[in-house]
Amino acid sequence: MDEGITRGIDVQLNNIDDTQLHSYISLIRSQSCPTCGDTSQQLNAALSGTVISIIIFIHYKKAFSIGCPACLKKTNQAATLKTALLGWWGLPWGLIRTPEALIKNIRTSKRLNTNEASDILVDFVRNNAGIIESIKNNDQSLQVMLTNVNNKQHYNK
Ligand SMILES: [Zn+2]
Repeated sequence: MDEGITRGIDVQLNNIDDTQLHSYISLIRSQSCPTCGDTSQQLNAALSGTVISIIIFIHYKKAFSIGCPACLKKTNQAATLKTALLGWWGLPWGLIRTPEALIKNIRTSKRLNTNEASDILVDFVRNNAGIIESIKNNDQSLQVMLTNVNNKQHYNK
């Protein structure tokens, strides 16, 4: 483990090349889904936007999650449904942000069908290359990392 951490620091401080990035992406994608445990499909990552209007205030959150396509779609659909029901009521922002979130969610859901690593997954792997390097031989640590990512929820970009 200590040796892994030293290697991880090295990777985090130096730019990684594409070959290395792709090997980390494949590693992350071959893990079991942190939500349902499924191992039959490659993991991906997605952002799901939820808009909720309360009187005149709106609450817009974007949740980042990693999981198998089925779980990511479930999360995305829940956000879409909640937004469709509760997003419209705040004037004027509800009328602007609600369709924006709905369109983005639908696009995200379509993209999950292609089974290519999403841009957001590639960004995640690139930003966390050091951590991934230090735990790459430890499936249990990789699962802990993926579960924590999903529980953090909020993502600003
Ligand atoms: Zn799953």
